[in-house]
Amino acid sequence: MPVERILAPGLYLVATPIGNLEDITLRALRVLKQADLIACEDTRQTQKLLNHFGIEKPTISYHEHNEGGRAAELIERLAQGARIAMVSDTGTPGISDPGFRLIALAVERQLEVVPIPGPAALIAALVPSGFPLHPFSFRGFLPPKSGARRRALDEIRESKQTEIFYEAPHRIREALEDVVATLGAERRVVVARELTKIHEEFLRGTATEILAIANARGELKGEIVLLIGPAAENAAPVPTLSVRERVDQLMRDDKLDEKAALKKIARERGISKSEAYREWQLNKYPREASSASDPTSPPTPSSPLRSPLCRPRACLARRISPWHSSSPYPSPSSSEIPFRQWRP
Ligand code: SAM
Repeated sequence: MPVERILAPGLYLVATPIGNLEDITLRALRVLKQADLIACEDTRQTQKLLNHFGIEKPTISYHEHNEGGRAAELIERLAQGARIAMVSDTGTPGISDPGFRLIALAVERQLEVVPIPGPAALIAALVPSGFPLHPFSFRGFLPPKSGARRRALDEIRESKQTEIFYEAPHRIREALEDVVATLGAERRVVVARELTKIHEEFLRGTATEILAIANARGELKGEIVLLIGPAAENAAPVPTLSVRERVDQLMRDDKLDEKAALKKIARERGISKSEAYREWQLNKYPREASSASDPTSPPTPSSPLRSPLCRPRACLARRISPWHSSSPYPSPSSSEIPFRQWRP
């Protein structure tokens, strides 16, 4: 039996699920069990989580209205050697949630601050969005009033990165109208809804297309992340062409050579040059992809034909079936859990 590690004094920033309770990490559970005290955005909300996992611990509220005084109080306890876990209602504490003041004070006092990583809606939305994964910018909630919202959107008119916002469901239609008005009908957007829950959905398209969907449905319910694609990527931010087709297009239209075309595609799609090259080879010579050399990197003397893409993990990743068709994990039974909103 592994020996449970003892928790050292410090402030533990514990990420909790954004909907699906299976997303709690083993480490988060251990830290919550071993902490002296759990500082919560809403003690009743966190109590549901603790009950579900059979954790009995004292909790204390820490929210936007008492942050000032409570932060000073918790800092004193930390200075005396307490182990305090901080959680928000969902996701990563401090991300559009209370936490920053306590974290900043603890850092200033040179107290131990320990991340316990886990879910954050912005990352869950970004990765499958199809937009470049870096650079990206997370800007929290859009302003609720249209004037301020349009000014905020105007700031990203020429943005070359993926822009991520949190938005409330009752404001998403207005926000999309403002995106159309400020950034143009053709700007690419993704609305990521109800992530990790039973009604999880990604709506991808131009701002007008997604606005039309929202209008047709009357409303878009649930929790929402709004992603706006880079201005320069309007033509093809969500790739519709294969790498080979895009290489051909760039060579034909932009007069680029293969190497320059692959470099550009890698930038457009937020992938490495090697990854772009591998996709290109796969489209071009499906059987020989793993043994071809990469024109974007010089051949090594010891293995002139070996592509850096053919690292064992890269090759394996192409062969294994998707997790959902062969998952070794049983689906959660809704009778076991109080939250029925899980995505299987
Ligand atoms: N701390 C959280 C995190 O790490 O993502 C964010 C908390 S913030 C108060 C709540 C907002 O996050 C929601 O209004 C929504 O924009 C986004 N959000 C949280 N959970 C979500 C989910 N399951 N699906 C989509 N968006 C979500």
